[in-house]
Amino acid sequence: MKEVDMKNSAPHSRKLLEYLQNGDFQIEFSWINKSTLAVIDPLREKILINLALHLVETDVHEYLHLQYPKMDEKTICQRTEKMLARTSRKDIQLLGERLIELILTQEENLN
Ligand SMILES: [Zn+2]
Repeated sequence: MKEVDMKNSAPHSRKLLEYLQNGDFQIEFSWINKSTLAVIDPLREKILINLALHLVETDVHEYLHLQYPKMDEKTICQRTEKMLARTSRKDIQLLGERLIELILTQEENLN
């Protein structure tokens, strides 16, 4: 893994990075369910992050901003929640997988 220089970062940011790098806790990216963004499994010292759901939520939120440029932030958040509630687990998983593919493609293009 690439070393990150955080000499000039805030103490809490450095602490988070140390936490990520020292390997005390394992971080895994995995589908959980359509309403859980992450869970901690203290027994296995593992953090599970539902990356697909994070990405779909962000994507829906920004999509709504584009569709309704004059809508206020609070309403966009409420609409995002409603839209996600109406989207099936399978569709969220599919959309999430597509967004992850896009991330990986962009990473490849950067290198
Ligand atoms: Zn917003």
